[in-house]
Amino acid sequence: VVVVQRRQRKGPVLTPSSLPCLEKMPTINVTEGCAHGCVYCYTQGYSGYPGVGRVTLLENIPELVEAELRRKRRKPGRVYFSPSSDAFQPVPEVLDVTFRTMGILLEHGVEVALLTKGYVPERFLRLFADARARVFAQVGITTLDEDIRKTMEPNAASATQRLETISGLVRSGAFVRARLDPLVPSLTDTAENLGPLLDELQRRGVRSIAASYLFLRPGFGQRLAHLPSLANATVWTWHRLADGVGGGKMIDADHRRERFARLASLAAEHGIDVHICACKNPDLPDATNCGIAGPSTEQAARPDAPLFGHLGQAK
Ligand code: SF4
Repeated sequence: VVVVQRRQRKGPVLTPSSLPCLEKMPTINVTEGCAHGCVYCYTQGYSGYPGVGRVTLLENIPELVEAELRRKRRKPGRVYFSPSSDAFQPVPEVLDVTFRTMGILLEHGVEVALLTKGYVPERFLRLFADARARVFAQVGITTLDEDIRKTMEPNAASATQRLETISGLVRSGAFVRARLDPLVPSLTDTAENLGPLLDELQRRGVRSIAASYLFLRPGFGQRLAHLPSLANATVWTWHRLADGVGGGKMIDADHRRERFARLASLAAEHGIDVHICACKNPDLPDATNCGIAGPSTEQAARPDAPLFGHLGQAK
């Protein structure tokens, strides 16, 4: 049960992001806090975080966005949902505000990029189908094992619901990429975990995935200490991530390189490309822009161009 409190957002909404992966794209959070309650989510340290089991709904976002778009001479090309919450939390009031806001953006010709660990309901799929090729989606999923999923992301959508969401988004004509993030070494990056997941993704038409490993902000190790495969996380070293993203404790670069190579070869057997998040892996030369907010506008305008190449644990 999530307690929803409401408040009116003040000030402009469509302002450029300072997050490097988003290249100044405006971002929207329809809530402060997030009902999904992922145990690794570092937005719980952000100001405005309402506490576990609570979200603050910024209920006037649709009206603010509509008014700003009417006033602006230059509209943003694309808007990203959401850097520090999830637009598809299982809370009807939140979904209503998300639906209205996305509808207004698409109606004004603004593209929508989204990253979610939630279930995207049918009415959104119809909205996206009407806005063909203007929606860029990443669906976070690292396992089909519900015990692991419930431990890591207790109130997020089940693996089955996320796979249904992927199928629905693909059918709607949205550009869809799965996001295997955060992978946990020796828990979710094993062939036993990844094989069946890649089988399902391939079957649902996913041709590219983004990936990155768990990193722990100070104070977060404690919360995850009960996961056996994180017993040696205490020896992980501090890594500086991209400017604006900060840093955290993570497995070292050599181990990441080796493990990403194994993922890439397994994915290749499924006809799936792997894109490594450069913001979180600035020490790996093969890391690229993982397309957290879709391909660049130029790529999107050229259907034959290789699409996508994000952020977040995802946020
Ligand atoms: S990681 Fe994302 S989905 Fe999970 S609680 Fe944080 S904001 Fe919500």
